[in-house]
Amino acid sequence: MSHSQATEKLMVELRDLNKWYGEFHVLKNINLEVKQGEKIVICGPSGSGKSTMIRCINRLEEHQKGDIIVNDIPLNEDIKNIEAIRKEVGMVFQHFNLFPHLTVLENCVLAPIWVKKMPRKEAEARAMELLERVKIPDQALKYPGQLSGGQQQRVAIARSLCMNPDVMLFDEPTSALDPEMIKEVLDVMIELANEGMTMLCVTHEMGFAKTVADRVIFMDGGQIVEENEPHEFFNNPQHERTQLFLSQIL
Ligand code: ADP
Ligand code: MG
Repeated sequence: MSHSQATEKLMVELRDLNKWYGEFHVLKNINLEVKQGEKIVICGPSGSGKSTMIRCINRLEEHQKGDIIVNDIPLNEDIKNIEAIRKEVGMVFQHFNLFPHLTVLENCVLAPIWVKKMPRKEAEARAMELLERVKIPDQALKYPGQLSGGQQQRVAIARSLCMNPDVMLFDEPTSALDPEMIKEVLDVMIELANEGMTMLCVTHEMGFAKTVADRVIFMDGGQIVEENEPHEFFNNPQHERTQLFLSQIL
C-alpha cells in the first residue's frame, strides 16, 4: 500500500529473546529487527505471547535470555539504561490506564514534569498541542470517567506522545472499544504512522494492518511463525496455523 518510511537505522532489536513465567516458556527465540519509521503489526491467537513480547521492550516484563536493544541502548540490569529506554518508548494499552483522579491535562503533563523535568507551562502547551492532534482539546479539564472509551484512548495516545517517544507500542488499543469508537482511534494511529513514527501494534484490525503495516507478524505458541508484507501475508499465508487464524478472523 503506502510506501515504507523505514530508514536503515535499527530502532528495536530482539535477538534470541526468551522468557519464562516460572516453568512456562512463554517466548521462544524471538528475533525481530524494526527499523526507524517502520510499522509492524503483530497478530496471533490469544495466549500466543504478543503482549508479553511487547511488554518486554519497555521492561514491564523481564526477559531471561537473549538481547533487547532500543535505539542502540541495550536493555539490561542497568537502571540508567532501563530509564533511558522507557523515555524513548511510549505504550498504549487495551484498557487506557489513565489516572482516574487526574484531569486529562494532568494525565498528560505528569510524566513530562516529573520524569523529564519540563517546566509546567511548557508541558501544558505541548499537551494541548497533542490533545488538539487527537481532536479533543475541549476535554482537557475533564476527568477520564467523563469521557467515552474512544476519547480516553485518544488521551492515552496523546499522553504517550507528550514524552516525545521514538517508538510507540500498542497492545490491542481498540479491543475494549465499542465499534463506533474504533475508527476514531485507528484514524489517530494512521496519522501517527503517516508522520513517520516507528510503531509495533498488536491488533486484529486487519484493515489497519493492510493500510499501515510494512510487515505483519504472526505469533503462535511463543514463536514468530510467519512474517510478511501485508499483501502476501493476507493473500498467500504459508503456514497452516496462519491460514487457520486468518480464516477465523477475516
Ligand atoms: P497474548 O497477548 O498473545 O494473548 P500473553 O503474552 O498475554 O499472550 O500471554 C502468553 C501466555 O503467558 C499465556 O499463556 C498467559 O496465560 C501467560 N501469562 C501471561 N502473563 C502471565 C503472568 N504474569 N504469569 C504467568 N503466566 C502469564
Ligand atoms: Mg495480549
